[in-house]
Amino acid sequence: MRIILEAVIAVLAITVLRAVIGMIMKGFSDLFGPSSSSSAGGASRPQRPAPGPEPLKKDPMCGTFIAASSSVQKTVDGETFYFCSAECRDKFRGPVRKAG
Ligand SMILES: [Zn+2]
Repeated sequence: MRIILEAVIAVLAITVLRAVIGMIMKGFSDLFGPSSSSSAGGASRPQRPAPGPEPLKKDPMCGTFIAASSSVQKTVDGETFYFCSAECRDKFRGPVRKAG
C-alpha cells in the first residue's frame, strides 16, 4: 500500500506548500503595499500667519512682483511706481506714453 503513503505525503506537501506560498505572498504584499503604516491623523498644517494682505506691486522694469513695503518707490507725475531695486528704479524713465 504505497499509494496511500504517497497520497499522505502529497497532501502534507501541498499543505506545507500552501503555507509557504501564503507566507511568501503575504511577505510580498507587505513589501509592495505596506499596510502597517499608521495613518497620520489631523489635517491641520502649521501655517505662517500673514501679518496682513499686502498688495504686490509689479516692477515695470523687470516684471518682478514685490511687496509695496519692501519695494523701492518712485513717483512720476503723481503716480507711484514700485521697483525691486534702486537699479530698476534708476532705469525707469517714467510711464510708457504712446506717441501721438
Ligand atoms: Zn526690478
